[in-house]
Amino acid sequence: MELYPFVLWGAAYCFALGACLASFLQVVAQRAAVPGSPPFYKGRSRCDSCGHTLGAAELVPVFSWLFLRGRCRRCGARVSAAYPLAEACGGLGAALCFWVFPFQWGRLAVALAAFFLLFLIALQDAYTMQIPDLYSLLLCLPALGALWAFPETGLAARLVGAVCVSLPLLLVTLAMPGAFGGGDIQLMAVCGFLLGWRQCLAGFFLALLIGGAQAVFLLATGRAKAGQGAHMPFGPALCAGSFLSLLWGGRLVTWYLGFFQF
Ligand SMILES: [Zn+2]
Repeated sequence: MELYPFVLWGAAYCFALGACLASFLQVVAQRAAVPGSPPFYKGRSRCDSCGHTLGAAELVPVFSWLFLRGRCRRCGARVSAAYPLAEACGGLGAALCFWVFPFQWGRLAVALAAFFLLFLIALQDAYTMQIPDLYSLLLCLPALGALWAFPETGLAARLVGAVCVSLPLLLVTLAMPGAFGGGDIQLMAVCGFLLGWRQCLAGFFLALLIGGAQAVFLLATGRAKAGQGAHMPFGPALCAGSFLSLLWGGRLVTWYLGFFQF
């Protein structure tokens, strides 16, 4: 346990970098969602209400929002709490990667790359109800990297993983058009290869729990009404479930299978 203080430092470092990267990814997702906005690499961030260009002190993830009490410094318009929340999630996810795979550089690299791509996919799906093919394609890189960084899950288990959730989702969607989006199905194919079939099933189970909680929240707060054919983006739940399963799915599966050994 002598490594413990260093792990804590590493996790804190990852939190800071993760929050900054999450802040940037949010700009990418949001600008892709609003037609006519400049590409993500052009133009400074502005207040949505008054157009005031944000200075460096107003761009510190999480803290700027807290310090300015969620308001624009110039016009006083409310700034959505979604910004600091997404930044905190990005920081937390990166910190958890380091916490679970401390100084295991290969696994850490795969986990961080997968996390930030899943984070971007979740944001994009939340904003636009679409998962761009390019993002799923980019997620193939950490999925292939996992073959080398997580050798305990073999190629066969990964190939089964690629179809064990995506194929049933595809069949359900063929039977009931619109049940799941094509992006969700593609995403679970790549996540299945990333995780292997056991952890993919565990991740999908977690996604159903998260998606269920999300639906209950939307109905309870009156943001959605049942029976209106209202669609909820399922991508964020799939991304969260897959990421949690990447970190702890192995232990979850072992724990679950323990109930069946006498
Ligand atoms: Zn303003």
